[in-house]
Amino acid sequence: MNKLSAIAEERPLDTQLTVLLDRQKAAVQRDMNPVIALRLDRLARLDRMIVQNERSFADAIAADFGIRSHIVTALTETLVTRAAIRHAKRHLRAWMRPRNVGVSWTFKPGRARIMIQPLGVVGIVAPWNYPLQLVLNPLVGALAAGNRAMLKPSELTPRFADVLRQAVSQAFAEDEVVVVTGGPDVAKAFSTLPFDHLLFTGSTAVGRIVAQAAARNLTPVTLELGGKSPAIIDASADLKLAANRLAWGKLLNSGQTCVAPDYALVPKALVDEFTAHLSERAKAQYPKTAGNPDYTSIVSDRHFQRLNDLVADAVSRGAKTVELVGGSDTAVRIFAPTALLNVNAEMAVMQEEIFGPILPIIGYDTLEDAIGFVNKRDRPLALYWFGRDHAARDKVLNGTISGGVTINDTIVHLAQEGLPFGGVGQSGYGHYHGELGFRAMSKEKPVFLQARLSAGSLLYPPYGRFSRFL
Ligand code: NAD
Repeated sequence: MNKLSAIAEERPLDTQLTVLLDRQKAAVQRDMNPVIALRLDRLARLDRMIVQNERSFADAIAADFGIRSHIVTALTETLVTRAAIRHAKRHLRAWMRPRNVGVSWTFKPGRARIMIQPLGVVGIVAPWNYPLQLVLNPLVGALAAGNRAMLKPSELTPRFADVLRQAVSQAFAEDEVVVVTGGPDVAKAFSTLPFDHLLFTGSTAVGRIVAQAAARNLTPVTLELGGKSPAIIDASADLKLAANRLAWGKLLNSGQTCVAPDYALVPKALVDEFTAHLSERAKAQYPKTAGNPDYTSIVSDRHFQRLNDLVADAVSRGAKTVELVGGSDTAVRIFAPTALLNVNAEMAVMQEEIFGPILPIIGYDTLEDAIGFVNKRDRPLALYWFGRDHAARDKVLNGTISGGVTINDTIVHLAQEGLPFGGVGQSGYGHYHGELGFRAMSKEKPVFLQARLSAGSLLYPPYGRFSRFL
């Protein structure tokens, strides 16, 4: 039986969800444009909720994964979300300010401005890989923009979802923010609700279904999806530095990161040297993986098996494995970090998002070849480039399109509050984070303020008086 907030459980699922949404919509009618003090108070309550529940959130996430260090959870989830809250609080007044827009002389002395209004109720559907950050970070934008929100965390992190539901119910009234928990049936029903905006984070396949469901309501959607994010190592790169940073971005959360570097493109002559550095740097960060509290479990047996199958398929087609750090432990789904050499495009590992600690390393002849390789595939969520040659860097920046880019590191563009975050093409559409996230969940309403004296009235009919001009 699904447990949807405080609603009586014997009602059908759709009715339970509709009751929750209707309560929030009624609250929107009562206060269409919450004042800044209320928005700041909601953000402060969200921050307090995270601080007060930090331990139970991290315990629940660790229990859901098997092994997931509290430090990883703090660095990648709570601190990131709290930084987003601080940023929103600092800039909210400026973001909310109406913007005056110039008018042509024919309309003067009238004035034009863009007024920023909340959309109403925002639905947020989140995946399991960073269950706290990916449900609460979109909420920061939603609350800053003055909306109310319904949250649907992933069923693959059920303990976290329950703790979150309780914490949210203590920090917020049900008509402000509410958490809905349950499996795919709940997720499906949730995405058919007539929200004023829906932000979905998850796989491209499910994103497509969600976008179709939302289209029936004409609900605008932000789709934060996945894909294969390449890392291009330039011939001018400091290989050891690049290997260290690539190992960090790939092995963080055992590769279960939407913006993890999926595969590496390396000049053919440097593949062996780069692989040796990668192995050395991976061991420096994780001297062992089995029994190492810093190294995260794969979230489920199904995903663990999927990763094993990817390696087996690649090996059966001629790939060579390089165990970067020894030590798997099936009982707690610890998957040993593995590089793959002699990879070709037909292998499953090059056709789907890996989402685990497997790194195909592919040699290239020229920079144009590397760019061509990226452009033959779906547009990725992230792209990484390592090197010191600025002309080569600019060639890659201008010659590829991706959701975002970090130069000479991995992942950290996502942590810049001043930068929007979002995919392009198959990796999604729309943005959140910072001001663009605020705007995505707002209506930017054009308003024209007519003056008492208006030149426009000279153009009213009857038009007979203009006939001699035509
Ligand atoms: P998923 O698509 O399987 O599930 C995501 C959410 O969708 C879950 O809450 C699930 O309950 C819900 N869902 C499942 N079926 C649904 C349906 N028919 N209708 C509506 N909702 C449904 O993804 P996942 O396995 O949880 O997460 C991994 C994927 O998410 C990867 O592809 C990864 O790259 C991507 N991801 C993207 C970002 C980003 O910011 N762009 C961040 C993290 C993860």
